[in-house]
Formats: sequence, C-alpha cells, structure tokens
Amino acid sequence: MSISYGLVRTTQLVYGSYCTINGCSKKRNSGHRYCNQHKYRLTYRGDANQQRIPVTTQNCAKNAVKLLIKDNQNNVSWHELMSAINERWSMSVAYVQGELDKHLSGKPSDKYRRRGLILTRDIFTNLGLENTFIIYCSWQYLQEWNPNMFVTDDAFKHQLVRSMRNQAKSFHTQSINKKTGKPSSYSSPLYMREREVVWEILTGIFGTTGMQLYKQIEKRAEKLRANKERMYAAIKRIE
Ligand SMILES: [Zn+2]
Repeated sequence: MSISYGLVRTTQLVYGSYCTINGCSKKRNSGHRYCNQHKYRLTYRGDANQQRIPVTTQNCAKNAVKLLIKDNQNNVSWHELMSAINERWSMSVAYVQGELDKHLSGKPSDKYRRRGLILTRDIFTNLGLENTFIIYCSWQYLQEWNPNMFVTDDAFKHQLVRSMRNQAKSFHTQSINKKTGKPSSYSSPLYMREREVVWEILTGIFGTTGMQLYKQIEKRAEKLRANKERMYAAIKRIE
C-alpha cells in the first residue's frame, strides 16, 4: 500500500495533474505521465505524438513497390540484389529456429527476446519472403517520401513491425471477442523490447533496400503520372 501511494504521489509531484504532452489538457492517467489517449498512442504507435497512418497510404506504398518488382524482372542487378537477400533470409530463418530450439531444450532466455523471436518466425512462415520484402520496403519508402510522417525512429520501427505482425496474424495471446466471435488480439500491444528483436533481424536481411528503391519508384511514378497522383492524394490526407 505504502509503495503504491508513494508512486502515485511521486508522479503527481513530477508530472502534475495533467498529461505532459504539449497542448494536451486532459487528466493524467494515474501513475503515468500521459492521458489515456496519449498512453494509447505510445503503446500502439511507438510514440505518444505519432499520428495514425491510414491503411490506404500503406496500400499505395505497397502497390508502388509491387509495380517496381514487376518492372525489374529483366534487370540483372535486381536479381543479384534478390539473391543476396534470399541468402540472408535463409540464414535468418535458421538462426531464429536455432535460438528457439535452445529455449525449448531448457536454456533460460529473456521473455521479450523469446516473444520477438516467435514473432519473427511467424513472419517468416506466414508472410514469406516476398510479402515481407514488400511490406518492409513500403514503410521505408513512406519514410523517404515524407520524413515528417514518423515523429521518431521508434514510431517508424513500431509501425513497421506492427503491420507485419498483424498480417502474419502472430499474437502472443489469442483472445476471442464474445460479441463478434472473432479474435480481438489485433489490438494487443507490441512491446518495445519484443519489437527491437524483430527489427534487428529484418534490417539485417533487407538493410536500406527500401530507401534505394525510393528513387526508382519516383522515376517510375513520373512515367505513370496518374498513379503518382493517387499516391500523393492518399499521403496528403495525413499531412
Ligand atoms: Zn494527453
């Protein structure tokens, strides 16, 4: 009792009664520096100031990457890049499985690291190389397109990993919504330490490929003006 009273009193002294986000006048959540809304954003978007990125924007970026893959089918250096990525992918699949096997055979491991490894394995298995590549590059593309889209690096990584997790349908707990009968775990939080494990492995495979693709996509978009305008329109909406 005395400890929790102490904590509440300490946060009260440090943070005052209101959310610490500039311009927010909502009541602070007990024991936390933010109000409910900003706390939610921190948990689900990786930063309390991060705006939501609409699915339409994400889809436009994914489509741009897909078109580029199609365009490059006769490009030799593209295939060289892909075979390098393929090799790193296979090595990472083996590495992740090896680490998880060690845990199964009784080697103690950190809970968040293990969760991160399980999530990575689910991405490998459920999404596969091509889908993972497209999603990864599309987020890097958005970041290059508009650097203000993500308020911090954490917010960027968080949304990238979270969108993969959602598409791989990999959740630590599967809870069922009693009313709809559907899994409600799409909204389960992604922990920063768990996310970092996934990020490290993915970035080891794909590196800055998405950023390099950005210029190529831009060139292509010049040729396909209609397509470009559609992407602009979608992205403008969140500026
Ligand atoms: Zn707030």
